[in-house]
Amino acid sequence: MKTRKKPLFRSRITVILRNDRPKDEVKAMAYELLQQWIDESSRIVFFGGAGVSTESGIPDFRSVDGLYNQKYDYPPEQILSHTFFVRKPEEFFRFYRDKMLPLDAEPNAAHRKLAEWEKEGKLAGIVTQNIDGLHQKAGNRKVFELHGSVHRNYCEKCGKFYTPEFIRDYPGPVPKCECGGRIKPDVVLYEEGLDNDVVSGAVHAISKADLMIVAGTSLTVYPAAGLVRYFRGKHLVLINRDATPMDSECDLVIHDKVGVVLSALT
Ligand code: ZN
Repeated sequence: MKTRKKPLFRSRITVILRNDRPKDEVKAMAYELLQQWIDESSRIVFFGGAGVSTESGIPDFRSVDGLYNQKYDYPPEQILSHTFFVRKPEEFFRFYRDKMLPLDAEPNAAHRKLAEWEKEGKLAGIVTQNIDGLHQKAGNRKVFELHGSVHRNYCEKCGKFYTPEFIRDYPGPVPKCECGGRIKPDVVLYEEGLDNDVVSGAVHAISKADLMIVAGTSLTVYPAAGLVRYFRGKHLVLINRDATPMDSECDLVIHDKVGVVLSALT
């Protein structure tokens, strides 16, 4: 499949807004432009990372205040690896229950806006690196969860599915199925590959989109970040608190919180 070439000079505008240089007139222009693109679009694809969920109180894997600020003997990357899950399931589930199951978290302004767009028929799909299920909780149905979901858990032996509440409330250290098999959360751990159907669904949606909004991700997580290369539509927009390696390739870049930007749009 062909991937998107570098920006074409005749049709690309890059407006970079930085938090430390607030210029109201530039900001207003950028929002106006983005609103116009959204109004014209009927196939928006939203690609979201951890920054979409932080406003719902879910810590970013990689933030200092998130999972790193913790009381475990191993770094999160090691705990959340396939090898660790197999070798030290008690430690894995202690961490997982404590840090990865924010079941009372609620969708924020970004999730709610995306749900509106799907209802209006403007949104072709959401591709997400998050595993919290908040897009579905907000009402979205077309969601490609690249890294799986804490809402699905299955028995490694017989395949029976279990709810996240079952994992949270299980009386022993490692949740077990009624058949005796160990239950594994359907999340993609380090060393594990992404689900082929999810990836091809995401690639298809991205390659057919006319507007792509990448948000809340530094685009440093591969292979997920490479999916952006399949976009061949008109406008590529990036919303992120900090600068990313892809800023210069986008048509519009807004350095701000995702919920703040999306809630200002209709
Ligand atoms: Zn079983």
